[in-house]
Amino acid sequence: MAPDVPVKTPRCSLCDEPAVFHDRMTGRHLCRGHFIAGIEERVAETIRSRNLIVPGDHVVIALSGGKDSTALLMILARLLPSWESVRLSAITIDEGIHGYREDTIRSADDLVAKYGLSHSTVSFTELFGGTLDAFLNGREPEACSVCGILRRKALNVAAERTGATKLATGHNLDDEAQSVFMNVLRGDLPRLVRDSGSDSQGRFIPRIKPLMFVSEKEIAVYLMLHGAWPDLPECPYAVHALRGEVRGMLATLESKHPGTMLHLMESKAKIEVQCAGRLEEEAIRPCAECGDPCSGAICQLCQLKKTLKK
Ligand code: SF4
Ligand code: ZN
Repeated sequence: MAPDVPVKTPRCSLCDEPAVFHDRMTGRHLCRGHFIAGIEERVAETIRSRNLIVPGDHVVIALSGGKDSTALLMILARLLPSWESVRLSAITIDEGIHGYREDTIRSADDLVAKYGLSHSTVSFTELFGGTLDAFLNGREPEACSVCGILRRKALNVAAERTGATKLATGHNLDDEAQSVFMNVLRGDLPRLVRDSGSDSQGRFIPRIKPLMFVSEKEIAVYLMLHGAWPDLPECPYAVHALRGEVRGMLATLESKHPGTMLHLMESKAKIEVQCAGRLEEEAIRPCAECGDPCSGAICQLCQLKKTLKK
């Protein structure tokens, strides 16, 4: 019988510690310490190079309690001492999704308590008079577009109540690459190049996405290494989303061709440069019904409200 060949644990490419992560883009193996430091430095660099946070900012984190926003809060709290007079707090939106939101809200509450941040919750029932479950009765395939329109408003209201100057969301590299791909599939060039961070030309609190260059997989490893993996159910409506199909397709491409998602982001950045000043600006005017800025006669939210059952 052949003797057992000892399996060699890969070592970190930057020190001699055992590796916990293999970065297929760079080919590097990383130990716990170098992996965590690398992720935090990448987020700090994204914030620095894009001026996402400046002295005096009050940054409110859109905290769902899920993986991305949990990692976002942990990383921003860790970077906070390196910024001059910046304040952090958190808001959570309760859409009213039975069997899902209760658990994530509990997880969000535990997290803010651990970090000692102020935290407020705003519900669809309070703002719109009903839960997402009730609104969707019979129109489940539209779940994510209905939810997206209502949540955008709810986040703006909740962020304004806190007096925040920036609203930070947990969008990661996978989310951003999926959005680029979906806008290409829809042929929606204006939306592809629109800087979602500026959100309606400065008329709402600016949104920032500090995790936009951190992949879903890296976020998962970051949380696991901190013992902070939130073991939560998936939203029951996620199965209806086009995004789900794009997500699967991109994940397959990324695993066969590491770097695919970053290349999509680079393509977007190059198209933005080519299009700068050449696309007609959408005329923004106040919605005839609620006064929020919009591009048509009435905003998406007011159009949607007319069709919601309560
Ligand atoms: Fe809303 Fe869709 Fe996300 Fe569920 S998966 S929380 S319905 S956007
Ligand atoms: Zn309106």
